[in-house]
This record gives sequence, structure tokens and C-alpha cells, in this order.
Amino acid sequence: MHLGVLPTERLRRDLDAAIAKAAQPVDGHRPGPHSVVESIPEYRRLISTLLNGPVAAARAPIPEDLLQRQQHLKAAAYFLDATLAGVCLLEPGEVAEAAASGRPASDAGTSGPVAVPAHGHEPVARPTHALVFLIEFGREPAEGEPGDAWIRGSNAERTDLRCAEVAVVLAGYLRSLGWHARGHVHGDTALDLAALAQRAGVAKEVGGVLRMPFSQRGFRIGVVTTDLELACDAPIAPDERLGWPDEAARQGVGGTRPAFEDEALAQRPLHLGRWPMERIRRVDQPTTMIDRSRIQRVPKRADLFTRALAGDLGPRAQKERTRFAVKHPLAFAMTPLIRGLVPLQGTRDKLQPSGWGGDLSDPLRNAQSIKALGHFLGADFVGICEAEPWMWYSHDEVEGRPIEPYHRYAVVMLIDQGFETMEGASGDDWISGAQSMRAYLRGALIAGLMAAHVRRMGFGARAHSNAHSELLHLPAVLLAGLGELSRIGELVLNPFIGPRSKSVVFTTDLPLAVDQPIDFGLQDTCAQCLKCARECPCNAIPYGPKTVFNGYEIWKPDVEKCGKYRLTNMKGSACGRCMKTCPFNSEDLVEHEQRLWQAIEQPESRRHLIEHDDRMGGGERNPVKRWWWDLEIVDGVARAPVAGVNERDLSPGRDERLAAAQKIAVFPPHLQPRGGTTMATVVPLERAAGLRAALKEQSEQQTRKP
Ligand code: SF4
Ligand code: SF4
Repeated sequence: MHLGVLPTERLRRDLDAAIAKAAQPVDGHRPGPHSVVESIPEYRRLISTLLNGPVAAARAPIPEDLLQRQQHLKAAAYFLDATLAGVCLLEPGEVAEAAASGRPASDAGTSGPVAVPAHGHEPVARPTHALVFLIEFGREPAEGEPGDAWIRGSNAERTDLRCAEVAVVLAGYLRSLGWHARGHVHGDTALDLAALAQRAGVAKEVGGVLRMPFSQRGFRIGVVTTDLELACDAPIAPDERLGWPDEAARQGVGGTRPAFEDEALAQRPLHLGRWPMERIRRVDQPTTMIDRSRIQRVPKRADLFTRALAGDLGPRAQKERTRFAVKHPLAFAMTPLIRGLVPLQGTRDKLQPSGWGGDLSDPLRNAQSIKALGHFLGADFVGICEAEPWMWYSHDEVEGRPIEPYHRYAVVMLIDQGFETMEGASGDDWISGAQSMRAYLRGALIAGLMAAHVRRMGFGARAHSNAHSELLHLPAVLLAGLGELSRIGELVLNPFIGPRSKSVVFTTDLPLAVDQPIDFGLQDTCAQCLKCARECPCNAIPYGPKTVFNGYEIWKPDVEKCGKYRLTNMKGSACGRCMKTCPFNSEDLVEHEQRLWQAIEQPESRRHLIEHDDRMGGGERNPVKRWWWDLEIVDGVARAPVAGVNERDLSPGRDERLAAAQKIAVFPPHLQPRGGTTMATVVPLERAAGLRAALKEQSEQQTRKP
């Protein structure tokens, strides 16, 4: 994982290479009058306040070996989607500048520095090292393509924002390990970032501008300075060519991103995204029935994790609720930003079109432009559906206030949790929570920024993130055509990344063309495949058939068992083991693609493919990808986990015993807190009633059968 997506180990290095004055690459265009750059500064202002902060009271038990530390931090940067990462020593003259904050950078760069907040003067020990990372520019639409007017000329600002996000998380991570650390990004640093990038061996000066190896795209630089001692990289040798060294490297040997990937993407309109969703069959209605007339809207207070926080699941679950997903220091480092984004999510107001966005009368063009913008900012999939009234929560949980649906459309996005880290994980070990939080953070930032952009055009828009949502994501993901409901239950599975995603939504009144649901044969596949049920540590995924729950046809999981396991998992942080072990959790390598299309197009091959996946060890851990440190924050300090680590691979043959013992409880609306209930009232979860409700649903299902 520390080698990243490009074959950096092929680069020749030279410790004595001269470091030249250089500028970061800039966007070749000026932002147009309707550019998304207008909405970026408020996000930069928030992020700037988090580049520095308090340090944990004691140091974590991490390896003494400097190379292991360096590789670990590079892997963490790649986990957060850095394109290249390296480490260098700070020079004596830089130490004070790294410790200071706020003065705009000296490197030439984007259009105008970002306003500097009045923060960042926390006491900082003398930093000694810099972790330097590059993030590539986003793919842009061609001239005149949908989204062009919003995107063109904004790449440097867009990518500086991403660098700032990653710098906040990495610096926060080091501080939660007990070392001082501060993030630096153009407009919010006193350091020469371009010089650091050369010394850390991630870029080279060519004609006064930095260039990155193996890429033609522009990029921006993020840096984290720290007093944690690390092994250093060497600069790229002066005579090293920056292109692909040979055909094998071009084909991806030694890296995980072959050259042809960029070349293929260059041929695809941006609004279509990276994966060929246009090849998946569209249908009028989802492949699992939704009886809108039977759906009762539920209050936010009825959400399982909200119930846990209020005390409905008992004191232990209530105590763990505040830390279960963020007890690993990397996830912990993401929470201030996730929380800080909530006030920027937007309003519920109806606005008046401002004319600022130009001609917005064509819903199809608008929808394609929105999708292009989502992909440009980093969403992996974007779909659109009507935000129908039954999709909204009925009441908030703080004041018990009714929620009246306020926007007409839902723009729904999926963020991939990342294949490589998932490959190394068991799904319920110490990185699990950070995998979720990384995707939630990325989604919240993208959706918030897009909603802000739409509001500038005079249309109401509000983001709905994991930290605060007034709309149920599950039906929106389904109706926006991003996946089908799976056996995992309350999870919509995408054909290309499987269950390995987190969703984020923004609702709006901007006129948009909506998408149709999809059918890629998942109902038939899940009916034959029981792998997630077999591998669930707490037997919460049903072996039996789908039922109808509150108007939805669904494999209804036992949310109490699942929720309690995730909350009180002491040998890891949260759980995503069902995602990890599903045969659809794979990477778009050639072999996987062939099997995927076979499963989609040839129903008779599905059983064979499921069995093949199990036989080949699909869902086992790949130790090469196990890059993270097992740590747990207790009382503000990261330490070795007291209870140890979940070490799991596959459990073939476990089915029969689990299926026989399985008792699923369900909690329909009459067993949930009523609308208007606040967090001050405890509504104990009644498992016995849930078990009776499940039996009743099953017998009704039997009666309905012809
Ligand atoms: Fe089971 Fe974990 Fe999936 Fe919950 S998240 S259903 S506990 S595997
Ligand atoms: Fe469906 Fe099998 Fe994936 Fe479960 S593991 S969601 S049954 S394909």
C-alpha cells in the first residue's frame, strides 16, 4: 500500500540533486462567470481552522523503525487518495516557518490566496520532518460538454481543497498519536511547498514548473510537518525521465493504475463517470417492490444508532455509541471536519433563480452538468431521483419537530470505500471505522460544495450527510439507479463496486432529469448466494427469503444484532464484514470485469461464479495490503487495543448451523419511537416484540404466496 498507485520504486533517486525554484502547476484556464470556485472559499476557511490543533497527552505505541513509520504514513496518504507521497527533512530555516502558520505561501499558484483564520498558534514543538503528498487534478469535461461552464478553470482550487482535507486528517492523526503536526496547503502556509515536493522525491522542476512522474495531469501539493522522526526519501535523479519506463509499467506492472486507464477515461464524457453504468439495464421500477401506499414515514429518533445514543439499547451501547466508529485515531482525526461541515450543509428555503448560473431551463443538461461536477469533485457514482415525500424522515430527533419535505429532487452519490484497504481488512478489525468515515467525509464535502454552488444559482439545495440527514438514503440510492437491494438488507449494491460504498445526498429544486432504477440480476444472485449471511459475525443477515417491511420488499436484517455488534465490537472499530466478503467487492481488473458481465448477462452462470469466488478465497485478507496500525483511543490516548484484533478469513461450512439457529427480530414503525420523541426520552428496544413481529411478517408472506 505504501508504494501507491504508480510504480514510484522505478524512479532513480539522487540525494545530491539540486532543488530549483518552481511553481505548482496551475489550471490553464481562467474560471468562467459561473464557476464552482466561488463556493470553495467558505470550505477552505473551515478547513484552515483544523490544520493545527491540540496533541494527545501521551504517545501511542508505534514502531521505532523509521522506515516502517514512513511507509505507514505514505499508506495512510494513499488510503486518503493522494496520488504520490514522500518524506523529507525540514531544513533549519524551515523549522520556524513550519511551526508558524497563516502567512500565504510563497509558491506561485492559484488565483488569489485564501483568507487566513485567526487560529493555528497552538504551541508546536520543533518540527523536523515533512510528509509531502501530491493530488492530481480532476478530470475535466471537454469544451462545451455538460458541466464545462461550472468546472473549467477551477482545478487548482478544487485540488487545493482536497489537499487541505487530506492534510487536516493526516495532521490530526499524528496529533492523536501524540506527536505535533500541522497541515500546509497553498494559501495557508509559510513553507515553499514546491521545494519540499522536490526534496521528498515526488516531483521535479521542468521549465520553472513542477512535474509529477507517470502523469500528464496537473496536481497540487499538501504537506504535513511533524516532530515524529521518519525515514526520508531522496529527490528524483536530475536525468530521470518522468514518463513510463517501459511497456510493463504502462500496463500496470509494479503499480495498480495502468496508463491505459487515463487514456480510456479521456474518451468518456465526464458526466458518465468512470464506470459504464450506461450498459446496465434500466427498468421502470426497482427490482424490489416498493408499495408507497403502505410506507409510514419514520422519525430520525427511530434510527438504530440514534436509539443507541438515547439509551434505548442499554447503557453499554449508549456509552460506545459516541466512539465506536472513531476509536481508531485515523477515524478520530476525521471527526472535527465531518462535524464542522454540518453548518455548511445549506438551508431548507425555497429560493428564487438568481440568473447567476446562466440558462438552466433544460433539465437533462442540468442533470448531466450536476453529474459531471460530482465526478470532477470526487464522487464515484452520481444518480438523480425525485425526493418523494415518503423518503423523508417525519420528525427531527432534537426537538421532535415535524420535517416537511422541502425539495423536489435528490442528487445521490456513492463514494467507494476503497478496494485496496478492504482487501487487507477482515471487515471488522481496527481500520473498519476509518474506511467508513473517510467515505462519509469525502461525501459530505462534495455534496455540501455542490449544494452551495446550486444555491448561488438561486435554487434551494441542502446536503444530507451521515452527520445530518433529513432524507432516508436507501430508497434514494435505489431510485436514482445506483444499485439494487441486496441480501445484506439495508444496503444497495452497485454492480461495479459492490456493497463497498457510502452514500451522500443533496436535495434541490434545480430542474433535473431523473434516472431510472437498474436491474443487473442481483435478486437472482443474492437468492442463490448466502455468503454475507454466513460471514456475518453475529448472524444478523437473513438466510430466508425477502419479506415486506413497512412497504419495502427486502431481506430484512436483524438491525438490533447488527447495531449492537458494530457498537460493542471490542476487537475492532464498527463492522463492514458483509461488504468485505461479498463476491461483488472486487476491483475492476480484467478478470473481474469478465466475470461480472458474465453474471449480469448469463443468469445460468451465477451459481458457478458464486462458488468460484468462494473457492478462490474471495473475501480472505491479503496481508500485503494490511498497512494500518491496530490502535484504540481510550481517554484521549491511542494505545494497543485491550481486547485484541478480529482476525478472520472465510468460514466455509458454517451455513447450516447458523441458518438453523437464526432468529431475526424486526422493528416495524409501531415498535419504534413515535414521531415527536426527543433524545430526552428512553424508549427501550423490545426484542421479544421484534421476534414476534418477524414471525408475523413471515406468516403473512406465506399467506400471500400463490
Ligand atoms: Fe453483520 Fe457486520 Fe454486516 Fe452488521 S455490518 S450485518 S454485523 S457483517
Ligand atoms: Fe448477495 Fe452474496 Fe453479496 Fe450477500 S454476499 S449481498 S448474498 S451477492
